[in-house]
Amino acid sequence: MKIIKTVQEMQEFSANMKRSNKKIGFVPTMGFLHEGHLSLIKFADEKCDIVITSIFVNPTQFAPNEDFESYPRDFERDERLAAKAGCEVIFYPSVREMYPKNYQTTVSLSKVTQKFEGERRPSHFNGVATVVSKLFNAVRPDMAVFGQKDFQQTLVIKKMNEDLNFGIDVVIAPTIRESNGLAMSSRNTYLSEEHREKAGIIFVGIEETRNAIDQGENERKVLNAILQRVLRSVPEIRIDYAAVVDADTMEEPEYYLPGEKVAIIVACYLGKTRLIDNAIATIPSRLNEDNFKEGI
Ligand code: AMP
Repeated sequence: MKIIKTVQEMQEFSANMKRSNKKIGFVPTMGFLHEGHLSLIKFADEKCDIVITSIFVNPTQFAPNEDFESYPRDFERDERLAAKAGCEVIFYPSVREMYPKNYQTTVSLSKVTQKFEGERRPSHFNGVATVVSKLFNAVRPDMAVFGQKDFQQTLVIKKMNEDLNFGIDVVIAPTIRESNGLAMSSRNTYLSEEHREKAGIIFVGIEETRNAIDQGENERKVLNAILQRVLRSVPEIRIDYAAVVDADTMEEPEYYLPGEKVAIIVACYLGKTRLIDNAIATIPSRLNEDNFKEGI
């Protein structure tokens, strides 16, 4: 495994790869790798000639009251797992390397960051967009692979890639789950065994909502109520948000249209641990007569 710690060395390495016509795949992470991250590396390995993974716990996307200090870290384990999955290079910069003294620039998106995660975690997406821009400029990949798990983040990255003309092929790969449906996350290490089991209800709620959509339900309030009812069946869960939104814009009309892609999104707390999850569904193109709502 080649480990690169400076932006300059990373750029030189990438330029060399490009000179020999190698297609570069990139997987940005904050480390403490799990099967979700590894699936992104494997995907990139299939599509590209060389896979670069970054491991950087980015301070600017954490609020002062969040878990930057306690975020789990284990570089040696990450190195082993990444190599096994097909990663050849780890970009592992220090905080000082990414944000030198007198650093001043922030990348900020106006619309897609307004609600949900952006509202609950003000400045989070500024941190994400800024660090991903810097990582894109350091690694200069042909393809970058992100997880569906962070739904709003996928919209932010796609929009930023388009608006700032990075020209990178941004690919979104499916969410990898534990056997009880819990989406894998480095933060799951914070959960007690009991909470980890109970967290399976999040996926149950998402699946029940998806079933209702498949059966023709298209009224936002009804769908949100189905999702929230299931989540409330576990009293230890505190809902931050649980909603069905348009999957492209995150807008919330009263009724979703036939053929419209929607995202079922959840953020909730179990104890002190905040979990997020989502799934995409499509409103059937022919809603069944009983459920068809005149609102559309
Ligand atoms: P993180 O280390 O949490 O910043 O995540 C790095 C990348 O891995 C992001 O693109 C995440 O969306 C993705 N990711 C995290 N968890 C999963 C998962 N369970 N399945 C698929 N991708 C994931």
